[in-house]
Amino acid sequence: MSAAETSPGAPRRVAVVPHTHWDREWYEPFQTFRLKLVRMVDGLIDQMEQDSSYRHFLLDGQLAVIDDYLEIRPENEARLAALTGAGRITVGPWYILMDEFLASGETIVRNLQAGMRRATAFGGAMDVGYLPDMFGHVAQMPQILAEAGFEHAVVWRGVPSAIDRNAFRWESPDGSSVRAEYLVAGYGNGAALPDDAKALVRRLQAHLDEFGEFIHPGDPLLLMNGSDHLLPQPWLGRVVAEANQAQGEFDLAVSSLPDYLRSAPTEGLPEWRGELRSGFRSNLLMGVGSNRVDVKQASARAERALERLAEPLSALFLPAEAWPETLLDLAWKLMLRNAAHDSICACSVDDVVDAVLHRYAEARHIGQGLADEALATVGRSMAEPGPVVVNPSAYERGGVVEVVVPAVGEVGADVQVLSERLGMPGSITLDGETVLTMLGLIQGARIGDDMYITDVSLAEDETGLDITLVIGTEARDGIPVEEVKRELYTKLTAHPDTEVRLTLDQPPVRRILARQDNVPGFGWSRFSAAPLLHPVVVDGGDGVGVDSGDPGGEPGGGSGPVTMANGLVTVAIDGTDGTFAINGVTGYGRLVDGGDYGDTYNYSPPIHDSVVDAPDSISVTVVERGPVRAIVSITATYTWPDHVEEASKARVGSHQVPVVTTLELRADEGVVRVDTRFVNPSRDHRLRVHLPLPEPASTSQAECAFTVVERGLTAEGRPDETGIPTFPSHRFVTSGGLTVVHEGLLEYELVDIEGDGPGSVGAGGAQPAGGAQASTLALTLLRATGMLSRLGMSLRPLPAGPMMAIEGPQLLGPVEVHYALAVGAVDPYRMATEVIDPLLIAGSFGGGDRSGHGSTLSVRGAQVSSVRRSGGQVEVRVFNPTPTSTTVEIAGRSGWLVDLRGRPVTPFEGGFELRSQGIATARLDGD
Ligand SMILES: [Zn+2]
Repeated sequence: MSAAETSPGAPRRVAVVPHTHWDREWYEPFQTFRLKLVRMVDGLIDQMEQDSSYRHFLLDGQLAVIDDYLEIRPENEARLAALTGAGRITVGPWYILMDEFLASGETIVRNLQAGMRRATAFGGAMDVGYLPDMFGHVAQMPQILAEAGFEHAVVWRGVPSAIDRNAFRWESPDGSSVRAEYLVAGYGNGAALPDDAKALVRRLQAHLDEFGEFIHPGDPLLLMNGSDHLLPQPWLGRVVAEANQAQGEFDLAVSSLPDYLRSAPTEGLPEWRGELRSGFRSNLLMGVGSNRVDVKQASARAERALERLAEPLSALFLPAEAWPETLLDLAWKLMLRNAAHDSICACSVDDVVDAVLHRYAEARHIGQGLADEALATVGRSMAEPGPVVVNPSAYERGGVVEVVVPAVGEVGADVQVLSERLGMPGSITLDGETVLTMLGLIQGARIGDDMYITDVSLAEDETGLDITLVIGTEARDGIPVEEVKRELYTKLTAHPDTEVRLTLDQPPVRRILARQDNVPGFGWSRFSAAPLLHPVVVDGGDGVGVDSGDPGGEPGGGSGPVTMANGLVTVAIDGTDGTFAINGVTGYGRLVDGGDYGDTYNYSPPIHDSVVDAPDSISVTVVERGPVRAIVSITATYTWPDHVEEASKARVGSHQVPVVTTLELRADEGVVRVDTRFVNPSRDHRLRVHLPLPEPASTSQAECAFTVVERGLTAEGRPDETGIPTFPSHRFVTSGGLTVVHEGLLEYELVDIEGDGPGSVGAGGAQPAGGAQASTLALTLLRATGMLSRLGMSLRPLPAGPMMAIEGPQLLGPVEVHYALAVGAVDPYRMATEVIDPLLIAGSFGGGDRSGHGSTLSVRGAQVSSVRRSGGQVEVRVFNPTPTSTTVEIAGRSGWLVDLRGRPVTPFEGGFELRSQGIATARLDGD
């Protein structure tokens, strides 16, 4: 008996919501899809203007499609705005339909704000958190939506088996929640409806037969009439009217999501708290986080340049009127376009990924350039000359910095000299032609790394020209280099035989490493080498370049272990296999390379897999010996297969691959920084580094948007997507006493599991541990595959997208990855800041009015997500990832807490309370 037959006598209401799902770029490049977009929207406008029965259209919840369309059809803006203003076309709330796990939390918020801002020109955004195709959903999404005034979300992928209804109450860790409409059969359950009333009714009955168990009797039915890049069906209004006349079982209406949700049930719904990452009913596409690691690294660098450097430095160190709003808006638009689920996931053709990488590079260039300008402003403002250390984070902290200082006096015990440059006083006499050639090479005052012309003068007498150049280590404003060049050109062109005497005045300098202590949060401190409480010492590896390998023979041999220690942490490199121990826990850095006959969406080992996890030979070289920094380089040479052979489904061929891993330990820090480089020669493989857990563990804790989520040892899947517990972390993951901070290495998995029963259910809601425990965290360094999507994979038999061969995801060529490790109790947010957002250096000649030490803003008691200007005011967004409420102190400042639409909520003075797991945005009064 079908669900439809059990319904009471009144007809079941059916909301038909016409829409299209418009991936901006995917298996076609953006410009190719846009040609179709323009034709689609042209037709849509005509249709809706001429046919009032086509009452509504959902333009995919993202404003990007409108900008993309109007760029080609600016003349149609008024027609479009008339339809959106009348509520017939619903737009927004997003600027783009982003991936939630791979983009930062800040990107999600900016995306929502950008969409709502743009939607004001079109009658406002749809008040529904429409999330139709994202590859799962982050735990804090309900709070983000609620903080923007939304009561509804609409989701499909990631909903766990525990949800047995087409709606549920979805709660964030802070307790805020939204009603989530669950698109049980996806966002295309009413795509391509027949042009025949009877066939339409049969389709509805079949749909209820299949999915009726999710929809309570009497509840309305939501029919999403559209799918990927589909055009509107012009007969829709007519066939809906005919279906209503022909039967009494269903009462159909062409509708909108807000209309449908107004009458959808809200009581008695199942509840879910936390992230949605299940593959139980629909593809989650669990491997996108490790596909095209170059894209993920580019994203991490661009996020850092904007969120951690350009915005806070520009907001706090520049006057309000110098806030670079348009440049930042441009950079954010690039970031938002890249956040689209098919873009940042890179499950796209190579042309698309090329464009994505270019956008990230441009966003990073803007961010880095603005940060450099802000730093230069700090340098110019200093009262005293010399390097100044700038802290772009909220933590008061110290750290190792690299500065260039005059080479005068003895080198202190707390300083490590990286290089020295001798002074170059003296004069040479040149002919005019040589000087003209040389002048062409000088562009501005910068003439090398830390070499600037700091003064220039030109004198002339009857014997010739005298040029004097003073060379220094810090840029100085107003050096008339170009004026002197023009004058020289004039004189030498008139008298080419003139003799030119060039005098260089360059003092000797040293490039040094030293520790700088106590730089206030969002503050600065004149550089001063601090005493080292825990200097780094290296044992073993005598001389420069010890080779403990035995080329061509068994691994090992050679000179025995090399140890770096600073009293806080000891790193011992195993002279036989190239792994290393941290505080006695052995086995870090083991590279495990296996086959991957999957695609851009999912890892999938070949049927006959082979795994390489030991090098043929290693060599260990001590690069730096402290006391401020020690670096040891391990070259391990592996034999990796060439590719997976189609016929045998086995890895065949071989390459000798030298993999260079450098380990770095700094004075007074408990963190081991790791850098691994190689030239990837192999296709169809997955490379992971195995990192032992000091204590066995049944859960991991990973950074995601505005929180840390706990996950277990398993993941929900189904026959067409085997649930594998490869999870994303944003900047860090901790487990079993190990903390890993990374730059764009988003995928990890707990492995080497022993014991009975699942450690917990990994579909998002971590549950009490059973007996199973993992002893290793595997961090994916590379996943190289050759198909956008593939048929017949071992872990996902059906394709998830077009089955196109693409070369880019093989990532042949240079690969370089960065991560850092700490064992024991550490604050992972602080560690991530210290590793990813180091202290910055600005040079100064003095003469300004800034004291030697100070802070622009003090924020304590919560994590700072963002500092920027909004409407001229400094705006700070914080969140509290702890299990208890906190007092956020913003010393000496008052203002208003605002919601994510910027609407004032409550005033504060000096600080405010923030609930456990809460997010808050504070606008500060004054400059
Ligand atoms: Zn999509």
